[in-house]
Amino acid sequence: MATNLDSFGRIDRRPREALALERAIASLGDGGPSLLAFGNGKSYGDTCHNGAGILVPMRSHRAILGFDAETGLLTAEAGTSLEEIIAHAAPHGYFLPVSPGTRFVTLGGAIANDVHGKNHHVRGTFGCHVTGFELLRSDGKRYPCSAAENPDLFAATIGGMGLTGIILSASIKLMRVGSLDVEEEITPFANLDAYFGLAEASDAANEYAVAWVDQLSGTNRGVLLTGNHADNGNFHVASSATRLSVPFEMPFSMLNGLSLKTFNFAYFHAKARKTGKTLSPYGSFFYPLDAVGNWNRLYGPKGLYQHQSVIPFAAAPTVVPQMLAASREAGQASFLTVLKRFGAMASPGLFSFPRPGYTLTMDFSNRGASTLKLLDRLDALTVEAGGRVNPYKDQRMSAATFGTSFPEWTALERYRDPRFSSDFWRRTALSLSAHAPALAAE
Ligand SMILES: Cc1cc2nc3c(=O)[nH]c(=O)nc-3n(C[C@H](O)[C@H](O)[C@H](O)COP(=O)(O)OP(=O)(O)OC[C@H]3O[C@@H](n4cnc5c(N)ncnc54)[C@H](O)[C@@H]3O)c2cc1C
Repeated sequence: MATNLDSFGRIDRRPREALALERAIASLGDGGPSLLAFGNGKSYGDTCHNGAGILVPMRSHRAILGFDAETGLLTAEAGTSLEEIIAHAAPHGYFLPVSPGTRFVTLGGAIANDVHGKNHHVRGTFGCHVTGFELLRSDGKRYPCSAAENPDLFAATIGGMGLTGIILSASIKLMRVGSLDVEEEITPFANLDAYFGLAEASDAANEYAVAWVDQLSGTNRGVLLTGNHADNGNFHVASSATRLSVPFEMPFSMLNGLSLKTFNFAYFHAKARKTGKTLSPYGSFFYPLDAVGNWNRLYGPKGLYQHQSVIPFAAAPTVVPQMLAASREAGQASFLTVLKRFGAMASPGLFSFPRPGYTLTMDFSNRGASTLKLLDRLDALTVEAGGRVNPYKDQRMSAATFGTSFPEWTALERYRDPRFSSDFWRRTALSLSAHAPALAAE
């Protein structure tokens, strides 16, 4: 059955072959085309696609299977969204220990990409809070996985991008909070030197810290948003029903240099005016973009590329400004330019994107060859600085960039289920192993 299962970047759009989980289970053991679980398509690129095989959509498997209000341990089917987990646990005083910038991600997708949030410096990645899961492999067996049981598969699946099998259900330890809402402080900065001067102390004092940078301003001014869960907020779970929605695809990208310059100017001044601490509803603090339905349609029919890199601490004050300058010089405007300091907490995952350093994220309208050229330049700056490019935001990085960024790919390849694959893995890892088969066999 061909179904519309786009990724968030919408660069490569076509109907995709999909098979319901029950039918995928029945087909195991037969050989046949490769499989890949599909969560909610909130990855930007092709890690959630499998053009040579079949996708197994997981969103309809979303039962909450258990919740202990004393310990905060929640068990759910892997298609459960983070939004549904919040709705279940918040009345008992709990929130997600790690939350990405959208609540429309599934539990399985959050584990498979080992996602991070605005509090990486204190809580690490999503996988740090997962106590166990059940993994279906192509031999038809269901493997209970945890630090104690099948620990190798546990580690390979956290950040394993769906390549080790299908997570059927998982348990996660939620975080007790004073309220869902956040006591937020906004600190404008005039340039990146000022930001780098603030970032470490802000992390030490706050659960959450993230900076927005005005990429089109020659000065790289911006605002640092910090916060902690407020004791005087509430546990009211906001409806995610979007009040605003982009009803149809724009015929061309609305996010061009002029519109973004105007937006950035207005956003910077609106934020910079708000000094002191304010109580922010959790929806607008964690998920501001969820408020506008289908906002990726603003990028028009050609879609968008997101580039996320992490640059080691020592190199970041030099390299991050170079990356912003390279984007400006290429005439490419980034709608969302976000800078954040990753901490040192190690993930239990074998293959996980974050590492200590500063992570820079930029979104670009797809303008064809000129955008691809810029993205290659950003890759080169990243790799030369000893950094790495995020696979689950990617649709085009070269196999060489991938191999240099993630020498540990050979270890993940050893745990990959032979029946599971993705467009991303074929484009990068398998192309490397085709040239040097011994690498994958090491
Ligand atoms: C607006 C926005 C903001 C974002 N902010 C952040 C952020 O702050 N931090 C961050 O880290 N990421 C962020 N992301 C990216 C997003 O969190 C991740 O890509 C996430 O993994 C997507 O989950 P999904 O459920 O949509 O899975 P999909 O995108 O559908 O799939 C992701 C991967 O998970 C695998 N997978 C899905 N379900 C299963 C399963 N049951 N078993 C095994 N494998 C499975 C797929 O095979 C694929 O490899 C953001 C994305 C958007 C659109």
